Amino acid sequence: MALEEGVSRIISSLRRDPGALESVYISVIAFAGKAQVISPLVDLVSFYSPRLPIGGGTALGVALEVLMREIDTRLVKQTATVRGDWKPVIFLITDGQPTDNPQPMIQKWLKNYASGATIVAITLGSGADTNILHQLTPHVLLYEGSREEDFKQFIDWISRSISTQSQSVESNRGESIINLAKAGDALVLLDEKKPMVSDPNTVVLTGRCQKTHSPYLIKYTRIGTLKSIERFIQKPQYSLEGCFPVTESYFIWSSDFQEEQIDVHSLIGVPGCPYCGNLIAIALCGKCNKIMCINGEGEAICPWCKSQNDFVFSDSDANFDIGRGQG
Ligand SMILES: [Zn+2]
Ligand SMILES: [Zn+2]
Repeated sequence: MALEEGVSRIISSLRRDPGALESVYISVIAFAGKAQVISPLVDLVSFYSPRLPIGGGTALGVALEVLMREIDTRLVKQTATVRGDWKPVIFLITDGQPTDNPQPMIQKWLKNYASGATIVAITLGSGADTNILHQLTPHVLLYEGSREEDFKQFIDWISRSISTQSQSVESNRGESIINLAKAGDALVLLDEKKPMVSDPNTVVLTGRCQKTHSPYLIKYTRIGTLKSIERFIQKPQYSLEGCFPVTESYFIWSSDFQEEQIDVHSLIGVPGCPYCGNLIAIALCGKCNKIMCINGEGEAICPWCKSQNDFVFSDSDANFDIGRGQG
């Protein structure tokens, strides 16, 4: 069953729900290489199931732009005399990595629209960039069904979510949009703290300069291991690629920079600080466990948590782990 049939199925099941018939309005925006409104916002009775275009590409930025324009022009805003439309719920369904740069539109969405609308992002299969979707919304779901039955369950879940949401706004119950009961096994809520895919070949760590407090990224890449010596090396080894300054916005767009733990003994090479020239950009604060730059032994104040550290080098083989981010 294709998405097109999915839309028809959603509409026909909502039409059987008297509450939804009265209150639900639906619009369809399709996006591939470009984005367009396929079906402008109308009530359920007037809605005609559209033909969805097929095309290459995933223009997420353009899709958001079209969505925001639709919200501006079609939605009735609440005023002193007019009861406005309810907060719209947007089901954003995608299967690919954005082929445009969606960041400017994501920022615009977060700044002006996110508080007045709910996006439920659903990725079909594991090809989509879930980090980007998590920037847009905390509600990111993975659909990984393969059978016709899974797809029907998934589509029925969308219908049910729309109709319970319409009842909940009418009765002010404020029910959560994400209720995965009866959604089937094929639909999974993705936790942004646990990224779905992590690149096993790179380690990216974030640190801050002790003196300027500015952030930087330390990148390591995995060293290929000869099959013949694999049994002597228990853990993968990573060699230093470099240490790069980043702006504070890195933290806004990276929800996952404190992720998997990595054993420092797997890391080969010590970077210097790209800001102040301190020799060791990979010192760990004893209090918050975050990374900072130091120039050697002695006292230093952590740029993250402001606590005092007294760094002493030791030969001990103490095993400590540091958080590992995504590249
Ligand atoms: Zn520094
Ligand atoms: Zn600290």
